[in-house]
Amino acid sequence: MVSDNCDIAIIGSGLTGISAAIAAYSRNPDCSIKLFGIPFDSNTAKKGEIENIPGISKVVGVDFIQQLIDQVIILNAEGSQTLDITNEMVKSVTKKENGFTITTEEKAIETKTIIIATGLPELKHTIKGEDDFVHKGVSHCAVCDGALYRGKKVAIIGKGNFVARGALFLRKYCRKVTLLCPTSELNCDKRFLKKLQSSENILLKTGIDLSSIEISGAQIVQGLRYQEEGETKDISVGGVFIELKDKPDFSIFADLNLGKTSDGFIQTNENNSTNVEGVFAAGTVKGELDYAPILMGDGYKTGFYATNLLKKND
Ligand SMILES: Cc1cc2nc3c(=O)[nH]c(=O)nc-3n(C[C@H](O)[C@H](O)[C@H](O)COP(=O)(O)OP(=O)(O)OC[C@H]3O[C@@H](n4cnc5c(N)ncnc54)[C@H](O)[C@@H]3O)c2cc1C
Repeated sequence: MVSDNCDIAIIGSGLTGISAAIAAYSRNPDCSIKLFGIPFDSNTAKKGEIENIPGISKVVGVDFIQQLIDQVIILNAEGSQTLDITNEMVKSVTKKENGFTITTEEKAIETKTIIIATGLPELKHTIKGEDDFVHKGVSHCAVCDGALYRGKKVAIIGKGNFVARGALFLRKYCRKVTLLCPTSELNCDKRFLKKLQSSENILLKTGIDLSSIEISGAQIVQGLRYQEEGETKDISVGGVFIELKDKPDFSIFADLNLGKTSDGFIQTNENNSTNVEGVFAAGTVKGELDYAPILMGDGYKTGFYATNLLKKND
């Protein structure tokens, strides 16, 4: 196994993690950073356009991730050129004297500090019939697969802005889109809600118990059953998009005994430091709002405080 070391290991290379690297290199272009995870597999890269970054009216997600990476590389070029974008997933993190060991499939890396920016995993295996119909009409990404359902009736399950945007994306291709939301309100921005409500081919149903939903079909998805106010509804659909988010996955951090909030996120203080000195968390893993500009600011703040700690310990 290859061994190596760094000052800051950033676990998660979506816009939160890359923003942390930008902050760290802005403050100290000589610090060494390893960025774990797959930048072009992050939500931003995979799932469409962003329209609310102050100063940028609209940007395609994959282009934006590329711009962030370019910016880190340029900042680091002013120093020791120590950036390593590993494109590797972390398997485990262990505490050792004066730091931590990060293990991937191929490497063991010693690091002084860690920034956790792994985002939230997709919640899978929750809807009845989901596992039977993956790639046979069940998808977990409306923006990635929606165009394949041209002319069909489909359903999308979830809440919040990204589900609203998913439904608005699907309406361009699909005959009818039924949006099943588990909470009493969709909790999305009003501009998305207005568009949803004025779309003739989108039907919004709120307060739907996820456990009542069942996907059915022979070889491929053909229908969906759910309960609405005690009544069983059966609809005919050719596709179901399940866009639910899970709580953070603590399994790779088991050795650290990280503090948790009462609702299952990583607990941090005002500097985004966890209960383990040298370990920081940023973005949705600590329950931050799922908005790109907020996550970028949170990532930046974390990179700032991680470099402060390195300086203090030097
Ligand atoms: C369809 C959609 C549209 C959206 N549109 C907007 C919008 O218009 N405006 C807006 O403000 N917000 C929008 N958002 C919300 C927000 O921008 C995203 O949720 C944001 O991309 C989250 O970024 P992140 O860096 O925290 O996490 P993610 O993008 O989820 O990135 C997580 C990173 O962690 C890595 N990772 C995970 N586990 C490991 C591991 N074990 N080891 C190493 N790496 C790991 C992954 O590889 C990935 O690189 C949208 C979200 C979606 C889904």
